[in-house]
Amino acid sequence: MAKIAIIGAGFAGHTAALYLGDKLGADHEITVINRSPRFGYVPSWVWVAVGHMDPEKTMFDLEPVYEKFGIKLVVGSAEEVHPDPEDQYVMVNPKGGGVPVRVDYDYLIIATGARLNFAGTPGLGPDTGNTWSICTRGHAVQASHRYLELVDRMKAGEKKTIVVGTGHPGATCQGAAFEYVSNIHKDLVRKGIRDRAEIIYLSNEPQPGDFGVRGVQVFRGGKVFTSAQFIGGIFKEFGIVDQTGRGVKEVQPGKIFWEDLNGVEGETAFDFAMLVPQFLGTKFKYIGKNGEDVSGKLMNAGGFVLVDAIYGLEYEILEQTPEAWPSVYQNRYYRNIFAAGIAFAPPGPISRPHITPSGFKISPAPPRTGMISGVIGRVVALNVADLVIRGRMTHHERMTEMVAACIASMGDSLWDGSAATIVMYPVVPDMRRYPNEGGRDMITTHMEMGLSGAWMKRMLHTTFIHKLKGRIGWQFIPE
Ligand SMILES: Cc1cc2nc3c(=O)[nH]c(=O)nc-3n(C[C@H](O)[C@H](O)[C@H](O)COP(=O)(O)OP(=O)(O)OC[C@H]3O[C@@H](n4cnc5c(N)ncnc54)[C@H](O)[C@@H]3O)c2cc1C
Repeated sequence: MAKIAIIGAGFAGHTAALYLGDKLGADHEITVINRSPRFGYVPSWVWVAVGHMDPEKTMFDLEPVYEKFGIKLVVGSAEEVHPDPEDQYVMVNPKGGGVPVRVDYDYLIIATGARLNFAGTPGLGPDTGNTWSICTRGHAVQASHRYLELVDRMKAGEKKTIVVGTGHPGATCQGAAFEYVSNIHKDLVRKGIRDRAEIIYLSNEPQPGDFGVRGVQVFRGGKVFTSAQFIGGIFKEFGIVDQTGRGVKEVQPGKIFWEDLNGVEGETAFDFAMLVPQFLGTKFKYIGKNGEDVSGKLMNAGGFVLVDAIYGLEYEILEQTPEAWPSVYQNRYYRNIFAAGIAFAPPGPISRPHITPSGFKISPAPPRTGMISGVIGRVVALNVADLVIRGRMTHHERMTEMVAACIASMGDSLWDGSAATIVMYPVVPDMRRYPNEGGRDMITTHMEMGLSGAWMKRMLHTTFIHKLKGRIGWQFIPE
């Protein structure tokens, strides 16, 4: 009987758990370690943060799902991994305290998502800083309270400045920030107070629509149409001030200090700001058989798990090397350890990094969205099942081979809402296969805006929660 442990039950870890439960369930021991007893459907936190969705609707209990699949749930924080063949266990501090729990494994999947590095930017964040966040359910609820207070003041006649974007020059997750700023715009329009707000989108992307994936281009009416034109056009239509190309250095009450791509320093005043922090990986203690620190074999300086990628390539070389992106997400030293979702260390950025004349680096990190995380979770789970059943892996999917769809809602109404839908193939441009098309297949890659996207986004909430609850037909709903 094989023992499989998964740390983290987000999009990557929970998807992996469902596939492993399905393939191996009763015959093997699968344990999921998660800080919370509940799954959080992150994409809908954008709607929570404008006060349009009850946060309870974005959560469900993991235990009943895992019971169906014969999976054990340990609720707590994994603190130590002992990876040597003589050991192979994880130490977990249970939620609410108590004696640390030891979880033994033959195979380990690390899917711990992002560690939110608010401390990486002085003055950033909701706890000790001056900005709000939508990156956890609690943060989204907090942001909604502050946003609705602001709305009350605008209703009373006051004018306010709202800034949404990224709070670190190396941040990712611009899609969520774009979706939030669009939802705020729509909400203020619906409330009849849009003219009382100046809305600014401030981010580290070199231009609107970059999204940390070097933007997207498609053929439209025989011409090349870029995501910079698409998203830039939406900003113009919505009256959102575009302050892309800025790396935030510090936030003080009511003021964001930044440097732009040309090295010019400046500040943006705000009454309400939601800025996404830098994402880092979860740092465990990785302990060898003699008590030594073996973390160098398992994680990079940012705490992301090293896998079968080619690390250390210059951007210009990485851009031409699709095989630098991992295909099975397996650690090279400890072959029974895999990483999925945000937790794996990418070989480098997708968007071109930029160094300003003063030496300040502005470089959006590569996104590993819910869809990408789910796909990687599935690939890893099926390979672990393969290894258990037949001793060899048969699944692989690099981000240079992966399709991704991003639907950014602009208001949640099914009557007058809208959404920007971007489908890209592949996620990481492959300059060898598509040298004349910016690295992507311009037939599959697609951008559009309309009401149908709003319906799709709402349906995704329901369909994915159905899938993630492991209900009938869950395997047929793609990640
Ligand atoms: C507001 C917002 C909106 C978004 N919208 C979209 C969208 O529309 N579409 C899309 O595709 N993507 C979207 N994303 C991105 C998507 O949510 C993430 O890419 C996805 O959640 C990453 O999945 P993950 O499994 O890697 O990490 P997570 O979902 O963050 O899961 C990690 C899990 O690990 C647990 N964990 C961490 N450390 C430990 C530990 N030491 N011990 C035990 N458990 C631990 C955490 O508690 C968590 O449950 C959005 C993100 C945000 C913030």
